[in-house]
Amino acid sequence: MPSLPASSTRYAQQLREGFRWLRFGPELEAEYSAYSSSNEHRRVAWFSALCLLVWGGYALVDLWRLDAVGFQAGQQALLTWLHMVRLGGAVVIALALIGALWPAPLRVVQVLMIASGAVVSCGAAFAVYVYKLFGVPHETAILVAIMLGLLSPFAISLWVQLALAALYLACVLGLAWIAPLPAVRLAMLQLGFQLALSALVFGTGAYWREHQRREQFLYRGDAHWLAMRDALTGLYNRRMFNHHLSLLMAQARREGQPLALLLLDVDHFKNYNDTYGHQQGDAVLQQVAQVVLASIGRPLDLVARVGGEEFAVLLYGSGADHAQALGQSLVMGVRQRALPHVASGVAQVVTVSVGGAMLAPQDEARTLYARADRMLYEAKSGGRNRCCWEETLQA
Ligand code: GH3
Ligand code: MG
Ligand code: MG
Repeated sequence: MPSLPASSTRYAQQLREGFRWLRFGPELEAEYSAYSSSNEHRRVAWFSALCLLVWGGYALVDLWRLDAVGFQAGQQALLTWLHMVRLGGAVVIALALIGALWPAPLRVVQVLMIASGAVVSCGAAFAVYVYKLFGVPHETAILVAIMLGLLSPFAISLWVQLALAALYLACVLGLAWIAPLPAVRLAMLQLGFQLALSALVFGTGAYWREHQRREQFLYRGDAHWLAMRDALTGLYNRRMFNHHLSLLMAQARREGQPLALLLLDVDHFKNYNDTYGHQQGDAVLQQVAQVVLASIGRPLDLVARVGGEEFAVLLYGSGADHAQALGQSLVMGVRQRALPHVASGVAQVVTVSVGGAMLAPQDEARTLYARADRMLYEAKSGGRNRCCWEETLQA
């Protein structure tokens, strides 16, 4: 087993806490559920088509087998029940198949899968019971195969699968209870024992399979999160910023929306480190990250740490006025945190400078960034602790 990640992502945290009962916290559970249900309709379609084929095949063989037996009048009622169970099983499996192909909402497909599992398992137990009563030759191995099918990873959670397996066992034992002949009762009890053993073996396998699937999900989520994020601040990293910048530029052009880029740099940060130490410097970067993150609110806006003490903000759909006001509020927001910086030369507290630019028709990602960077340089050379925009946008 790989060693547990030391990162502080919620994935790593869940890995450390464990999930013996195959359940994460609510947020991760919802994410896992969405992750594991992708492609579920397809899998259910294949699985239920196969079940329908096997169930239908058995029904046909049994029609022929039962035909060869001469029934007494009293037995006819049981036979009618058996046919109805056969038909009922075929109908619910067919409904699950239709639901998966249509495709119906996943909840509906899940309910149909549960119904198929219940009808098929109890129906097959009933069929075997009837054959034993009539003395018709039959094989019971199919009942063990059905137990394996119930505990297969399709659409429903392991706990529901186990509940179905328990229902199945209860059905076999219930039939043993009502059996009029001692030989049939004994045979049904033996069958119950075999099924309980198979439930134990397949259930243990299913538990570990699900456990491993969840573990992989957490490792994957942790690695994915870390690949996109900056470890110190939790903001997006430079790579994700570049990726989003290209995407948002294309979208802004397609939809005729404005796009603003703001670059923010901490003033005299080298002096800060020299005075207060690197660790304290890290804490300042985390505080600045909080201020920048709090400044955005819309779903497509993005904040990233693009360099050592440099941050970028992308504002999608924001006009120049709003973007400029936000730049000012970033400068003020950091200053108002009042983080002491005696070696600044600008103020007694930590300050930042901001440069901003609006996406222009001829821009590439590189040129937009360069223009914002030029404005940042202007803010620095103009005395720092301020926000600068290109000439055309200055009021
Ligand atoms: P200016 O006002 O012109 O931006 O001056 P500055 O000192 O902030 O700029 P300079 O580029 O000279 O120095 C940046 C400093 O940021 C140097 C480096 O030690 C520090 N730095 C970069 N990354 C980190 C980090 O992750 N943690 C800490 N504590 N410091 C960092
Ligand atoms: Mg810098
Ligand atoms: Mg700096």
